[in-house]
Amino acid sequence: MQLAGQQHFSTLGAPLLGVIIDCLTLDQVVARIEAFIAEKQPHLVVTADSTGLIIARHDQEFRRIVQSADLVTPDSVGVVWALRRRGFPVQRVSGVDLVDRLCAASADKGHRIFLLGAAPGVAEEAGERLKLKYPGCNIIGARHGYFPTESDEVVAAEIAEAKPDILLVAMGMPRQEKFIRATRGIINAPVAMGVGGSLDVFSGRTKRAPGWVQRAKLEWLWRLILDPRKMSKVKHLPTFAWLVLRGKA
Ligand code: UDP
Repeated sequence: MQLAGQQHFSTLGAPLLGVIIDCLTLDQVVARIEAFIAEKQPHLVVTADSTGLIIARHDQEFRRIVQSADLVTPDSVGVVWALRRRGFPVQRVSGVDLVDRLCAASADKGHRIFLLGAAPGVAEEAGERLKLKYPGCNIIGARHGYFPTESDEVVAAEIAEAKPDILLVAMGMPRQEKFIRATRGIINAPVAMGVGGSLDVFSGRTKRAPGWVQRAKLEWLWRLILDPRKMSKVKHLPTFAWLVLRGKA
């Protein structure tokens, strides 16, 4: 299945709110990303959560970017729930899991990774911790994500000098995907992926929910309790659930 304008190679894609989600396991996604690196052409990977899909309904530029992505993973329990209801055999493939696996693969194969995003100091801290976790992990640069859109090209030129194979952008949706799309011709990284709050997690500043909370599918509630500012994201969940339950997604 494929929506007009969306370039996809996957065998099984599931439509949800105008976007095709790839039904791939974490291992398959990592393999696909390795293939993108080998191709040496720029690819965009989107980790789609329920909030992101609701934002895409109203933000046409963002919707087009997600629709033109080379790979879209189901990043939240809401997206997994919506697709399983329709019989698609999806598993959650989150930004945090992907950052972890790509750093492990980098330690093995030397892929050059650049970390962009989060508050000053966080990307550097996350990089140091990831290098300790995966000795040899080739993190070749890190930079915070607090700069105005007008500076996108200047920041992109800095990143381009480092020649990353993988650019991980942790600036939240839709800012991170818009940055990737706008600067793709400057940075030319074979893989660019938006990873939301992942660098906060790897820097140790945000704790991931305990295993039992993740298994109970309540990670969103855990994050909301720790950071009430997340309400701006969580407020979209009832709309998402309503659209899914009414068969309008
Ligand atoms: N952020 C950033 N630049 C900005 C706004 C946000 O780098 O202009 C960072 C913020 O510090 C946080 C991340 O973007 O690390 C967004 O995290 P959030 O959990 O809100 O994103 P999500 O995973 O929900 O998309």
